[in-house]
Amino acid sequence: MATAQGVRLIEDLRRLFGDRLHTRPEDLLVYECDAVSLYKERPLAIVFPETTDEVVEIVRLSAAAGVPFVPRGAGTGLSGGAQPIAGGILIGTARMKRILHVDLDNRYAIVQPGVVNALLTREVAGAGYYYAPDPSSQIACTIGGNVAENAGGPHCLKHGMTTRYILGVTVVLPDARVVRLGGPAPDAPGLDLVGLFVGSEGTLGIATEIVVRLDPQPPAVRTFLASYARMSEACATVSEIIARGLDPSALEIVDRLTIEAVESSVYAAGYPRGAEAVLLVELDGLEPEVDAASAGVQAVCRTHGAIELQEARDPASRLKLWKGRKGAFGAMGRINTDLLVMDGVVPRHKLEWVLERVYEVREKHGVTLANVLHAGDGNLHPNISFDGRDPEQARRAVAASEEILQACLEAGGSLSGEHGIGVEKRDLMPLLFDAADLDIMRRVREAWNPNGLCNPCKLLPDVHACVESRGRGLDLEGGGR
Ligand SMILES: Cc1cc2nc3c(=O)[nH]c(=O)nc-3n(C[C@H](O)[C@H](O)[C@H](O)COP(=O)(O)OP(=O)(O)OC[C@H]3O[C@@H](n4cnc5c(N)ncnc54)[C@H](O)[C@@H]3O)c2cc1C
Repeated sequence: MATAQGVRLIEDLRRLFGDRLHTRPEDLLVYECDAVSLYKERPLAIVFPETTDEVVEIVRLSAAAGVPFVPRGAGTGLSGGAQPIAGGILIGTARMKRILHVDLDNRYAIVQPGVVNALLTREVAGAGYYYAPDPSSQIACTIGGNVAENAGGPHCLKHGMTTRYILGVTVVLPDARVVRLGGPAPDAPGLDLVGLFVGSEGTLGIATEIVVRLDPQPPAVRTFLASYARMSEACATVSEIIARGLDPSALEIVDRLTIEAVESSVYAAGYPRGAEAVLLVELDGLEPEVDAASAGVQAVCRTHGAIELQEARDPASRLKLWKGRKGAFGAMGRINTDLLVMDGVVPRHKLEWVLERVYEVREKHGVTLANVLHAGDGNLHPNISFDGRDPEQARRAVAASEEILQACLEAGGSLSGEHGIGVEKRDLMPLLFDAADLDIMRRVREAWNPNGLCNPCKLLPDVHACVESRGRGLDLEGGGR
Protein backbone atom coordinates (compact mmCIF):
# COMPACT_ATOMS: atom_id res chain seq x y z
CA MET A 1 0.00 0.00 0.00
CA ALA A 2 1.34 3.42 -0.93
CA THR A 3 1.63 6.33 1.50
CA ALA A 4 -0.33 9.55 0.91
CA GLN A 5 2.81 11.07 -0.71
CA GLY A 6 3.10 7.99 -2.91
CA VAL A 7 -0.52 8.30 -4.08
CA ARG A 8 -0.05 12.01 -4.93
CA LEU A 9 3.19 11.23 -6.75
CA ILE A 10 1.43 8.63 -8.90
CA GLU A 11 -1.31 11.14 -9.75
CA ASP A 12 1.29 13.72 -10.79
CA LEU A 13 3.26 11.20 -12.85
CA ARG A 14 0.07 9.92 -14.50
CA ARG A 15 -0.77 13.46 -15.64
CA LEU A 16 2.68 13.82 -17.23
CA PHE A 17 3.30 10.32 -18.58
CA GLY A 18 -0.13 8.77 -19.21
CA ASP A 19 0.26 5.19 -20.41
CA ARG A 20 4.05 5.37 -20.01
CA LEU A 21 3.41 4.87 -16.28
CA HIS A 22 2.60 1.37 -15.04
CA THR A 23 1.19 0.64 -11.59
CA ARG A 24 -0.86 -2.56 -11.91
CA PRO A 25 0.67 -5.48 -9.96
CA GLU A 26 0.55 -7.72 -13.04
CA ASP A 27 2.51 -5.13 -15.04
CA LEU A 28 5.05 -4.68 -12.25
CA LEU A 29 5.68 -8.39 -11.78
CA VAL A 30 8.47 -8.53 -14.38
CA TYR A 31 10.26 -5.57 -12.80
CA GLU A 32 10.53 -7.05 -9.30
CA CYS A 33 14.12 -8.10 -9.87
CA ASP A 34 16.94 -7.92 -12.39
CA ALA A 35 18.79 -11.08 -13.46
CA VAL A 36 19.33 -11.93 -9.78
CA SER A 37 16.09 -13.77 -9.09
CA LEU A 38 16.93 -14.42 -5.43
CA TYR A 39 15.82 -10.98 -4.28
CA LYS A 40 12.52 -9.40 -5.24
CA GLU A 41 10.69 -6.20 -4.31
CA ARG A 42 7.60 -4.69 -5.91
CA PRO A 43 7.93 -1.02 -6.91
CA LEU A 44 5.13 1.48 -6.59
CA ALA A 45 5.37 2.14 -10.34
CA ILE A 46 7.64 2.05 -13.36
CA VAL A 47 7.75 5.05 -15.66
CA PHE A 48 9.34 5.32 -19.09
CA PRO A 49 10.70 8.79 -19.91
CA GLU A 50 12.05 9.71 -23.34
CA THR A 51 14.19 12.78 -22.68
CA THR A 52 16.48 14.34 -20.09
CA ASP A 53 13.73 16.86 -19.24
CA GLU A 54 11.29 14.07 -18.51
CA VAL A 55 13.80 12.36 -16.21
CA VAL A 56 14.23 15.70 -14.43
CA GLU A 57 10.47 15.83 -13.81
CA ILE A 58 10.33 12.29 -12.39
CA VAL A 59 13.29 12.94 -10.10
CA ARG A 60 11.94 16.35 -9.00
CA LEU A 61 8.53 14.94 -8.10
CA SER A 62 9.90 11.82 -6.42
CA ALA A 63 12.42 13.82 -4.39
CA ALA A 64 9.71 16.28 -3.29
CA ALA A 65 7.55 13.33 -2.19
CA GLY A 66 10.49 11.67 -0.41
CA VAL A 67 10.02 8.53 -2.50
CA PRO A 68 13.12 6.55 -3.61
CA PHE A 69 13.79 6.05 -7.31
CA VAL A 70 15.91 3.48 -9.13
CA PRO A 71 17.20 3.70 -12.72
CA ARG A 72 16.73 0.55 -14.78
CA GLY A 73 18.09 -0.32 -18.20
CA ALA A 74 17.42 -3.81 -19.59
CA GLY A 75 17.47 -5.46 -16.16
CA THR A 76 20.23 -7.92 -17.12
CA GLY A 77 22.31 -6.86 -14.11
CA LEU A 78 23.76 -9.71 -12.09
CA SER A 79 24.11 -8.05 -8.68
CA GLY A 80 20.61 -6.72 -7.98
CA GLY A 81 21.51 -3.10 -8.86
CA ALA A 82 18.25 -2.42 -10.70
CA GLN A 83 16.14 -4.21 -8.14
CA PRO A 84 13.37 -1.81 -7.12
CA ILE A 85 12.91 -0.44 -3.63
CA ALA A 86 9.54 -1.58 -2.29
CA GLY A 87 7.15 1.33 -2.76
CA GLY A 88 9.66 3.34 -4.83
CA ILE A 89 9.69 4.41 -8.47
CA LEU A 90 11.57 2.59 -11.22
CA ILE A 91 12.81 4.85 -14.00
CA GLY A 92 13.03 2.61 -17.08
CA THR A 93 15.23 3.81 -19.93
CA ALA A 94 13.80 1.45 -22.57
CA ARG A 95 12.32 4.37 -24.55
CA MET A 96 15.51 6.45 -24.36
CA LYS A 97 17.02 4.47 -27.22
CA ARG A 98 18.08 7.06 -29.75
CA ILE A 99 21.58 7.34 -31.16
CA LEU A 100 21.69 11.13 -31.12
CA HIS A 101 24.86 11.86 -33.04
CA VAL A 102 27.70 9.94 -34.72
CA ASP A 103 30.98 11.70 -35.52
CA LEU A 104 33.35 9.26 -37.20
CA ASP A 105 35.95 11.93 -37.98
CA ASN A 106 36.39 12.37 -34.26
CA ARG A 107 35.45 8.79 -33.42
CA TYR A 108 32.62 9.29 -30.99
CA ALA A 109 28.86 8.95 -30.70
CA ILE A 110 26.31 10.51 -28.37
CA VAL A 111 23.61 8.09 -27.27
CA GLN A 112 20.66 7.91 -24.94
CA PRO A 113 21.16 5.45 -22.07
CA GLY A 114 18.62 2.89 -23.31
CA VAL A 115 20.54 2.15 -26.52
CA VAL A 116 21.30 -1.57 -26.61
CA ASN A 117 25.05 -2.23 -26.66
CA ALA A 118 25.12 -4.41 -29.81
CA LEU A 119 22.90 -1.99 -31.75
CA LEU A 120 25.47 0.78 -31.41
CA THR A 121 28.08 -1.36 -33.15
CA ARG A 122 25.52 -2.37 -35.78
CA GLU A 123 24.89 1.32 -36.49
CA VAL A 124 28.54 2.09 -37.28
CA ALA A 125 29.81 -1.29 -38.54
CA GLY A 126 29.14 -0.42 -42.18
CA ALA A 127 31.67 2.42 -41.89
CA GLY A 128 34.26 0.07 -40.37
CA TYR A 129 33.82 1.14 -36.73
CA TYR A 130 32.63 -0.53 -33.52
CA TYR A 131 31.94 0.07 -29.84
CA ALA A 132 34.48 -2.18 -28.13
CA PRO A 133 33.08 -3.19 -24.68
CA ASP A 134 31.21 -6.43 -25.35
CA PRO A 135 29.43 -7.92 -22.34
CA SER A 136 28.06 -11.36 -23.18
CA SER A 137 24.61 -9.83 -22.64
CA GLN A 138 25.27 -7.23 -25.35
CA ILE A 139 22.25 -8.14 -27.47
CA ALA A 140 20.04 -6.98 -24.57
CA CYS A 141 21.91 -4.77 -22.09
CA THR A 142 21.99 -0.98 -22.44
CA ILE A 143 24.81 1.53 -22.59
CA GLY A 144 23.34 3.23 -19.46
CA GLY A 145 23.51 -0.05 -17.54
CA ASN A 146 27.04 -0.66 -18.87
CA VAL A 147 28.14 2.77 -17.64
CA ALA A 148 26.61 2.21 -14.20
CA GLU A 149 28.31 -1.18 -13.82
CA ASN A 150 31.53 -0.37 -15.70
CA ALA A 151 30.73 -3.48 -17.69
CA GLY A 152 33.40 -5.76 -19.04
CA GLY A 153 33.26 -8.53 -21.62
CA PRO A 154 35.47 -11.11 -23.31
CA HIS A 155 37.44 -8.55 -25.34
CA CYS A 156 38.06 -6.20 -22.42
CA LEU A 157 41.23 -8.22 -21.78
CA LYS A 158 42.97 -6.28 -24.55
CA HIS A 159 40.63 -3.36 -25.17
CA GLY A 160 39.65 -2.35 -21.64
CA MET A 161 36.42 -1.99 -19.66
CA THR A 162 33.57 0.45 -20.31
CA THR A 163 35.28 3.26 -18.39
CA ARG A 164 37.89 3.52 -21.14
CA TYR A 165 35.17 4.30 -23.70
CA ILE A 166 33.07 6.88 -21.87
CA LEU A 167 34.07 10.42 -22.77
CA GLY A 168 31.16 12.28 -21.23
CA VAL A 169 27.84 11.86 -19.43
CA THR A 170 24.82 14.09 -18.92
CA VAL A 171 23.51 13.28 -15.45
CA VAL A 172 20.25 14.13 -13.71
CA LEU A 173 21.39 14.48 -10.12
CA PRO A 174 19.23 13.19 -7.26
CA ASP A 175 18.03 16.77 -6.58
CA ALA A 176 16.90 17.08 -10.24
CA ARG A 177 19.71 19.42 -11.37
CA VAL A 178 21.40 18.48 -14.64
CA VAL A 179 25.20 18.35 -14.99
CA ARG A 180 27.30 17.63 -18.05
CA LEU A 181 30.49 15.77 -17.17
CA GLY A 182 33.32 15.49 -19.68
CA GLY A 183 32.58 15.51 -23.40
CA PRO A 184 34.05 14.57 -26.77
CA ALA A 185 37.16 16.74 -26.37
CA PRO A 186 40.05 14.78 -24.89
CA ASP A 187 41.34 15.33 -21.36
CA ALA A 188 38.66 17.50 -19.79
CA PRO A 189 40.30 19.54 -17.02
CA GLY A 190 39.08 19.46 -13.41
CA LEU A 191 38.21 16.43 -11.32
CA ASP A 192 37.56 13.27 -13.30
CA LEU A 193 33.87 13.05 -12.47
CA VAL A 194 33.17 10.89 -15.53
CA GLY A 195 35.55 8.31 -14.05
CA LEU A 196 33.75 8.58 -10.72
CA PHE A 197 30.30 8.22 -12.26
CA VAL A 198 31.20 5.14 -14.31
CA GLY A 199 30.71 2.14 -12.04
CA SER A 200 28.68 4.02 -9.42
CA GLU A 201 25.76 1.61 -9.94
CA GLY A 202 23.04 4.21 -10.30
CA THR A 203 23.69 5.66 -6.83
CA LEU A 204 24.94 9.11 -7.93
CA GLY A 205 22.26 10.07 -10.46
CA ILE A 206 20.75 9.04 -13.77
CA ALA A 207 22.72 9.15 -17.01
CA THR A 208 20.53 10.57 -19.78
CA GLU A 209 23.07 11.17 -22.56
CA ILE A 210 26.39 9.40 -22.98
CA VAL A 211 29.35 10.27 -25.18
CA VAL A 212 31.13 7.05 -26.18
CA ARG A 213 34.37 6.43 -28.00
CA LEU A 214 34.22 4.44 -31.24
CA ASP A 215 37.15 2.50 -32.67
CA PRO A 216 38.04 1.26 -36.15
CA GLN A 217 37.49 -2.47 -36.50
CA PRO A 218 40.76 -4.41 -36.38
CA PRO A 219 41.86 -5.46 -39.88
CA ALA A 220 42.65 -9.06 -38.92
CA VAL A 221 41.01 -11.41 -36.41
CA ARG A 222 41.83 -15.06 -35.71
CA THR A 223 39.95 -17.33 -33.34
CA PHE A 224 40.99 -20.69 -31.88
CA LEU A 225 39.28 -23.25 -29.71
CA ALA A 226 41.51 -25.61 -27.70
CA SER A 227 40.05 -28.46 -25.68
CA TYR A 228 41.63 -30.14 -22.67
CA ALA A 229 41.27 -33.25 -20.55
CA ARG A 230 42.12 -31.20 -17.43
CA MET A 231 41.11 -27.71 -16.31
CA SER A 232 44.64 -27.17 -14.93
CA GLU A 233 46.04 -27.46 -18.48
CA ALA A 234 43.68 -24.80 -19.78
CA CYS A 235 44.70 -22.47 -16.91
CA ALA A 236 48.40 -23.10 -17.56
CA THR A 237 47.88 -22.23 -21.24
CA VAL A 238 46.31 -18.92 -20.26
CA SER A 239 49.20 -18.00 -17.98
CA GLU A 240 51.82 -18.80 -20.62
CA ILE A 241 50.02 -16.95 -23.42
CA ILE A 242 50.02 -13.85 -21.23
CA ALA A 243 53.57 -14.37 -19.98
CA ARG A 244 54.85 -14.65 -23.57
CA GLY A 245 53.28 -11.29 -24.43
CA LEU A 246 51.14 -12.73 -27.23
CA ASP A 247 48.52 -10.06 -26.45
CA PRO A 248 45.26 -11.90 -27.20
CA SER A 249 42.07 -9.86 -27.28
CA ALA A 250 40.14 -12.62 -25.48
CA LEU A 251 40.95 -15.73 -23.43
CA GLU A 252 37.82 -17.51 -22.27
CA ILE A 253 37.46 -20.89 -20.54
CA VAL A 254 34.29 -22.93 -20.07
CA ASP A 255 34.16 -26.16 -18.09
CA ARG A 256 32.58 -29.54 -18.78
CA LEU A 257 29.15 -28.90 -17.28
CA THR A 258 28.92 -25.66 -19.27
CA ILE A 259 29.95 -27.50 -22.46
CA GLU A 260 27.17 -30.02 -21.82
CA ALA A 261 24.59 -27.29 -21.25
CA VAL A 262 25.68 -25.32 -24.33
CA GLU A 263 25.79 -28.32 -26.64
CA SER A 264 22.31 -29.41 -25.55
CA SER A 265 20.88 -25.96 -26.26
CA VAL A 266 20.16 -23.64 -29.17
CA TYR A 267 23.63 -22.15 -28.54
CA ALA A 268 25.39 -25.40 -29.60
CA ALA A 269 28.78 -24.36 -30.97
CA GLY A 270 30.52 -27.63 -31.68
CA TYR A 271 32.44 -27.72 -28.37
CA PRO A 272 33.75 -31.30 -27.81
CA ARG A 273 31.42 -32.89 -25.29
CA GLY A 274 33.97 -35.09 -23.55
CA ALA A 275 36.43 -32.27 -22.76
CA GLU A 276 36.98 -31.12 -19.18
CA ALA A 277 37.56 -27.54 -20.40
CA VAL A 278 37.69 -25.57 -23.63
CA LEU A 279 39.72 -22.40 -24.14
CA LEU A 280 38.63 -19.80 -26.66
CA VAL A 281 41.49 -17.58 -27.81
CA GLU A 282 41.07 -14.58 -30.08
CA LEU A 283 43.76 -12.34 -31.55
CA ASP A 284 43.18 -9.09 -33.38
CA GLY A 285 45.30 -6.37 -34.94
CA LEU A 286 47.38 -5.98 -38.09
CA GLU A 287 47.73 -9.08 -40.26
CA PRO A 288 51.47 -9.77 -39.72
CA GLU A 289 51.31 -9.37 -35.93
CA VAL A 290 48.18 -11.55 -35.69
CA ASP A 291 49.85 -14.22 -37.84
CA ALA A 292 52.95 -14.26 -35.65
CA ALA A 293 50.94 -14.39 -32.41
CA SER A 294 48.70 -17.17 -33.84
CA ALA A 295 51.70 -19.43 -34.32
CA GLY A 296 52.74 -18.74 -30.71
CA VAL A 297 49.25 -19.42 -29.34
CA GLN A 298 48.96 -22.76 -31.16
CA ALA A 299 52.37 -23.85 -29.86
CA VAL A 300 51.47 -22.94 -26.26
CA CYS A 301 48.13 -24.79 -26.47
CA ARG A 302 49.90 -27.92 -27.68
CA THR A 303 52.66 -27.67 -25.06
CA HIS A 304 50.00 -27.70 -22.34
CA GLY A 305 48.24 -30.78 -23.67
CA ALA A 306 45.43 -29.50 -25.90
CA ILE A 307 43.71 -32.62 -27.22
CA GLU A 308 42.06 -30.76 -30.07
CA LEU A 309 42.71 -27.38 -31.65
CA GLN A 310 40.21 -25.80 -34.04
CA GLU A 311 40.55 -22.52 -35.89
CA ALA A 312 37.57 -20.55 -37.16
CA ARG A 313 37.82 -20.60 -40.96
CA ASP A 314 35.52 -17.67 -41.71
CA PRO A 315 33.28 -15.10 -39.97
CA ALA A 316 30.41 -17.61 -39.73
CA SER A 317 32.48 -20.27 -37.94
CA ARG A 318 33.98 -17.57 -35.70
CA LEU A 319 30.47 -16.44 -34.71
CA LYS A 320 29.53 -20.05 -34.03
CA LEU A 321 32.45 -20.53 -31.63
CA TRP A 322 31.45 -17.35 -29.81
CA LYS A 323 27.77 -18.29 -29.77
CA GLY A 324 28.52 -21.07 -27.28
CA ARG A 325 30.41 -18.80 -24.91
CA LYS A 326 28.03 -15.87 -25.16
CA GLY A 327 25.00 -18.11 -24.75
CA ALA A 328 26.46 -20.06 -21.83
CA PHE A 329 24.35 -18.43 -19.09
CA GLY A 330 21.23 -18.79 -21.22
CA ALA A 331 22.03 -22.45 -21.86
CA MET A 332 22.29 -23.02 -18.11
CA GLY A 333 18.66 -21.96 -17.87
CA ARG A 334 17.96 -25.52 -19.02
CA ILE A 335 19.49 -26.99 -15.86
CA ASN A 336 17.10 -25.55 -13.26
CA THR A 337 14.64 -22.72 -12.62
CA ASP A 338 17.20 -20.28 -11.14
CA LEU A 339 20.82 -19.43 -11.77
CA LEU A 340 23.15 -17.62 -9.39
CA VAL A 341 25.92 -16.14 -11.54
CA MET A 342 28.94 -15.19 -9.46
CA ASP A 343 31.70 -12.80 -10.39
CA GLY A 344 34.90 -13.25 -8.42
CA VAL A 345 38.29 -12.12 -9.60
CA VAL A 346 41.76 -13.33 -8.65
CA PRO A 347 45.33 -12.72 -9.81
CA ARG A 348 45.65 -14.85 -12.97
CA HIS A 349 48.22 -17.23 -11.53
CA LYS A 350 45.75 -18.11 -8.74
CA LEU A 351 43.01 -19.29 -11.12
CA GLU A 352 43.82 -22.95 -10.77
CA TRP A 353 44.05 -22.70 -6.98
CA VAL A 354 40.74 -20.92 -6.65
CA LEU A 355 38.98 -23.31 -9.04
CA GLU A 356 40.04 -26.19 -6.78
CA ARG A 357 38.39 -24.33 -3.86
CA VAL A 358 35.29 -23.77 -6.02
CA TYR A 359 34.97 -27.50 -6.69
CA GLU A 360 35.48 -28.26 -2.96
CA VAL A 361 32.68 -25.83 -2.07
CA ARG A 362 30.47 -27.45 -4.73
CA GLU A 363 30.94 -30.85 -3.06
CA LYS A 364 30.52 -29.48 0.46
CA HIS A 365 27.15 -27.83 -0.30
CA GLY A 366 25.97 -30.37 -2.86
CA VAL A 367 25.18 -27.68 -5.46
CA THR A 368 25.13 -27.93 -9.25
CA LEU A 369 27.90 -25.59 -10.36
CA ALA A 370 29.32 -24.79 -13.79
CA ASN A 371 32.25 -22.48 -14.52
CA VAL A 372 32.75 -19.82 -17.17
CA LEU A 373 35.87 -17.68 -16.97
CA HIS A 374 37.17 -14.48 -18.54
CA ALA A 375 40.39 -16.33 -17.79
CA GLY A 376 42.79 -13.73 -19.16
CA ASP A 377 41.52 -11.25 -16.57
CA GLY A 378 41.44 -13.77 -13.71
CA ASN A 379 37.67 -13.21 -13.66
CA LEU A 380 35.62 -16.30 -12.85
CA HIS A 381 31.87 -16.85 -13.06
CA PRO A 382 30.91 -19.94 -11.06
CA ASN A 383 27.22 -20.50 -11.84
CA ILE A 384 25.01 -22.29 -9.36
CA SER A 385 21.80 -23.79 -10.77
CA PHE A 386 19.04 -24.27 -8.21
CA ASP A 387 15.30 -24.29 -7.72
CA GLY A 388 14.50 -20.92 -6.16
CA ARG A 389 11.12 -22.20 -4.99
CA ASP A 390 12.94 -24.42 -2.50
CA PRO A 391 14.32 -22.26 0.36
CA GLU A 392 16.86 -24.92 1.32
CA GLN A 393 18.34 -24.98 -2.20
CA ALA A 394 18.44 -21.17 -2.24
CA ARG A 395 20.16 -21.13 1.15
CA ARG A 396 22.81 -23.58 -0.03
CA ALA A 397 23.39 -21.59 -3.22
CA VAL A 398 23.99 -18.40 -1.23
CA ALA A 399 26.22 -20.13 1.34
CA ALA A 400 28.32 -21.68 -1.44
CA SER A 401 28.61 -18.37 -3.29
CA GLU A 402 29.80 -16.56 -0.17
CA GLU A 403 32.45 -19.18 0.52
CA ILE A 404 33.68 -18.91 -3.06
CA LEU A 405 33.99 -15.14 -2.79
CA GLN A 406 35.89 -15.57 0.49
CA ALA A 407 38.31 -17.85 -1.38
CA CYS A 408 38.77 -15.17 -4.07
CA LEU A 409 39.65 -12.65 -1.37
CA GLU A 410 42.03 -15.11 0.26
CA ALA A 411 43.77 -15.43 -3.12
CA GLY A 412 44.33 -11.66 -3.16
CA GLY A 413 41.38 -11.02 -5.47
CA SER A 414 38.18 -9.04 -5.31
CA LEU A 415 34.40 -9.37 -4.90
CA SER A 416 33.51 -8.38 -8.44
CA GLY A 417 35.26 -8.32 -11.78
CA GLU A 418 32.45 -6.68 -13.75
CA HIS A 419 28.92 -7.29 -12.42
CA GLY A 420 29.09 -4.78 -9.58
CA ILE A 421 28.10 -5.06 -5.94
CA GLY A 422 24.40 -4.12 -5.93
CA VAL A 423 22.46 -5.76 -3.12
CA GLU A 424 24.03 -9.14 -3.72
CA LYS A 425 27.50 -8.41 -2.36
CA ARG A 426 26.81 -5.18 -0.45
CA ASP A 427 27.19 -6.77 2.96
CA LEU A 428 30.48 -8.42 1.98
CA MET A 429 32.15 -5.06 1.26
CA PRO A 430 33.74 -4.84 4.74
CA LEU A 431 35.70 -8.00 3.89
CA LEU A 432 37.48 -6.04 1.16
CA PHE A 433 37.52 -2.47 2.48
CA ASP A 434 38.30 -1.11 5.91
CA ALA A 435 36.14 1.45 7.71
CA ALA A 436 38.10 4.45 6.34
CA ASP A 437 37.77 3.22 2.74
CA LEU A 438 34.04 2.69 3.12
CA ASP A 439 33.62 6.03 4.85
CA ILE A 440 35.19 8.02 2.00
CA MET A 441 32.96 6.19 -0.51
CA ARG A 442 29.92 6.94 1.63
CA ARG A 443 30.85 10.62 1.87
CA VAL A 444 31.27 10.87 -1.90
CA ARG A 445 27.87 9.30 -2.39
CA GLU A 446 26.29 11.67 0.17
CA ALA A 447 27.74 14.67 -1.67
CA TRP A 448 25.84 13.65 -4.82
CA ASN A 449 22.86 11.94 -3.24
CA PRO A 450 22.40 13.62 0.17
CA ASN A 451 18.86 12.34 0.79
CA GLY A 452 19.81 8.82 -0.19
CA LEU A 453 16.75 8.56 -2.45
CA CYS A 454 18.62 7.60 -5.64
CA ASN A 455 19.01 3.81 -5.68
CA PRO A 456 19.33 3.36 -1.90
CA CYS A 457 20.37 0.11 -0.20
CA LYS A 458 22.86 -0.73 -2.96
CA LEU A 459 26.65 -0.92 -3.15
CA LEU A 460 27.59 0.34 0.33
CA PRO A 461 26.71 -1.51 3.52
CA ASP A 462 25.19 1.39 5.46
CA VAL A 463 21.96 -0.19 6.51
CA HIS A 464 21.10 2.87 8.63
CA ALA A 465 20.87 5.24 5.64
CA CYS A 466 19.01 2.58 3.73
CA VAL A 467 16.33 2.13 6.39
CA GLU A 468 16.01 5.93 6.74
CA SER A 469 15.39 6.53 3.06
CA ARG A 470 12.96 3.65 2.88
CA GLY A 471 11.07 4.83 5.93
CA ARG A 472 10.73 8.38 4.66
CA GLY A 473 8.35 7.91 1.80
CA LEU A 474 7.05 4.42 2.24
CA ASP A 475 4.61 2.27 3.98
CA LEU A 476 6.98 -0.58 4.73
CA GLU A 477 4.16 -2.82 5.88
CA GLY A 478 2.38 -2.75 2.56
CA GLY A 479 5.07 -1.99 0.01
CA GLY A 480 7.34 -4.99 -0.10
CA ARG A 481 7.16 -8.72 0.25
C1 LIG B 1 23.52 -13.62 -19.93
C2 LIG B 1 24.24 -12.48 -19.27
C3 LIG B 1 25.57 -12.25 -19.60
C4 LIG B 1 26.27 -11.18 -19.01
N1 LIG B 1 27.57 -10.95 -19.36
C5 LIG B 1 28.22 -9.90 -18.85
C6 LIG B 1 29.57 -9.63 -19.23
O1 LIG B 1 30.18 -10.33 -20.04
N2 LIG B 1 30.19 -8.54 -18.68
C7 LIG B 1 29.53 -7.74 -17.78
O2 LIG B 1 30.13 -6.76 -17.32
N3 LIG B 1 28.27 -7.98 -17.40
C8 LIG B 1 27.59 -9.02 -17.91
N4 LIG B 1 26.30 -9.26 -17.53
C9 LIG B 1 25.66 -8.38 -16.53
C10 LIG B 1 24.86 -7.20 -17.15
O3 LIG B 1 24.43 -7.50 -18.47
C11 LIG B 1 25.67 -5.91 -17.12
O4 LIG B 1 25.92 -5.51 -15.79
C12 LIG B 1 25.01 -4.74 -17.86
O5 LIG B 1 25.88 -3.64 -17.83
C13 LIG B 1 23.67 -4.32 -17.27
O6 LIG B 1 23.00 -3.50 -18.20
P1 LIG B 1 21.42 -3.30 -18.12
O7 LIG B 1 21.01 -2.35 -19.17
O8 LIG B 1 20.73 -4.60 -18.12
O9 LIG B 1 21.29 -2.60 -16.70
P2 LIG B 1 20.33 -2.91 -15.48
O10 LIG B 1 20.48 -4.32 -15.04
O11 LIG B 1 18.96 -2.45 -15.79
O12 LIG B 1 20.95 -1.95 -14.38
C14 LIG B 1 22.25 -2.17 -13.90
C15 LIG B 1 22.63 -1.01 -12.96
O13 LIG B 1 22.72 0.16 -13.73
C16 LIG B 1 21.91 1.19 -13.18
N5 LIG B 1 21.45 1.98 -14.32
C17 LIG B 1 20.79 1.56 -15.42
N6 LIG B 1 20.59 2.58 -16.26
C18 LIG B 1 21.14 3.67 -15.69
C19 LIG B 1 21.26 5.04 -16.06
N7 LIG B 1 20.75 5.49 -17.20
N8 LIG B 1 21.89 5.88 -15.21
C20 LIG B 1 22.41 5.44 -14.04
N9 LIG B 1 22.31 4.17 -13.63
C21 LIG B 1 21.70 3.30 -14.44
C22 LIG B 1 20.83 0.43 -12.41
O14 LIG B 1 20.28 1.22 -11.38
C23 LIG B 1 21.61 -0.73 -11.87
O15 LIG B 1 22.29 -0.36 -10.70
C24 LIG B 1 25.60 -10.34 -18.07
C25 LIG B 1 24.26 -10.59 -17.75
C26 LIG B 1 23.59 -11.64 -18.34
C27 LIG B 1 22.14 -11.87 -17.96
